[in-house]
Amino acid sequence: MTSGETLFSRAKFPDGTMRTLTVSAGRIAAITVGEVVAKDGQQVVDLGGLLILPGFVEGHIHLDTSFFGGKWISHKPCTNGFDVHERVAFQHQNMAIAEPMDVRARKQLELCIANGATAMRSHVMVDGSVGLKSLETILKVRDEYRDRIDIQLVAFPQSGILKSPGTSDLMDQAIGLGADLVGGLDPASFDRDIEGHLNVVFGIAEKRGVDVDIHLHDAGTLGVFTIEQICDRAVALGMQGRVAVSHAYGLGDVQQDMAKRTADRLAKSGVSIMTNAPGAHNFPPIALLRSAGVTVFSGSDNIRDSWWPYGDGDMLGRATMIGYRSGFYTDQELEAAFDIVTSAGATALRLEGYGLVEGAKADFVVLDAEHVPEAVVSAPKSRAVYKAGKLVARNGKLV
Ligand SMILES: [Zn+2]
Repeated sequence: MTSGETLFSRAKFPDGTMRTLTVSAGRIAAITVGEVVAKDGQQVVDLGGLLILPGFVEGHIHLDTSFFGGKWISHKPCTNGFDVHERVAFQHQNMAIAEPMDVRARKQLELCIANGATAMRSHVMVDGSVGLKSLETILKVRDEYRDRIDIQLVAFPQSGILKSPGTSDLMDQAIGLGADLVGGLDPASFDRDIEGHLNVVFGIAEKRGVDVDIHLHDAGTLGVFTIEQICDRAVALGMQGRVAVSHAYGLGDVQQDMAKRTADRLAKSGVSIMTNAPGAHNFPPIALLRSAGVTVFSGSDNIRDSWWPYGDGDMLGRATMIGYRSGFYTDQELEAAFDIVTSAGATALRLEGYGLVEGAKADFVVLDAEHVPEAVVSAPKSRAVYKAGKLVARNGKLV
């Protein structure tokens, strides 16, 4: 039975070998070194000896709040240093003048797909102010793009849980509606009640059997203390490998010995860390975390939104930034930056069938680079993106 199969020939694998992928029903059925003679009914796609990479994992984005592709909305600085409450207030003002959410979400999704993302985790605001409206919109958009990208949605309490009446019930309903994970936001500085906040988050996770991904901007030892509480909860509920802390800025503020101790605790608890290597901000020590065995993954986070004007949806470019900010120079370090936007992301998101291996989904990116380290530093924009063996984007445009 060969009908419907496609041979992707002359694919240069990251180890330099030229191979042929046999793709059947959206999966990699076989990987063969060298050329394979096509049988009757098999289509052949010549990849021209370009480098083949697994699809990129956009592990943290906000599909509901970006203004990308719409009119420019100038960034408004906080009046007295960075303040999450004030930024959330600015976001509400900006959302009122931006294009409809579904239009903005599609533009942002297409940007990410065109850059090579084949899987994504998006946080979507669920709180007393917007209720479940944003989630309902993003669920529809997710469905429209289901053949082009796999999307996990996090019920994200942008206005806090205890501070925003009704939010805990809404987050629970969000899971019933189709959200895949339960989120959280700065339990200490936002709700001023770590225990209360985490009781709700992990209560819903336990009841609904879903994973957890918590935004944690809190600095220094407060951030580290909160991470310890999250680790304890993950262990107590047997949720190792199913909990993530996004940003975890505090890990970048504290002394190395404390960061090391916390890294060991994260590794033991199976709690992963998401960082987008943010601009002028301390961020987690990636090499230290990885060497302790912590899964570190990444995402664009905000793209042209109320938080900052940057972001281009390019996870390979994000690997460049991660490497640049971390002082990664050797091939091994550059490969680590790449791992963060690919395999480690797949581990954190618990993606089924990921990677350039037999049996995996045929999700891959093809571009012109000698190998992974060169791809990370050059991040060539010319690339072809395949989802389930079908070309979905070429040179920055969806096909
Ligand atoms: Zn975020």
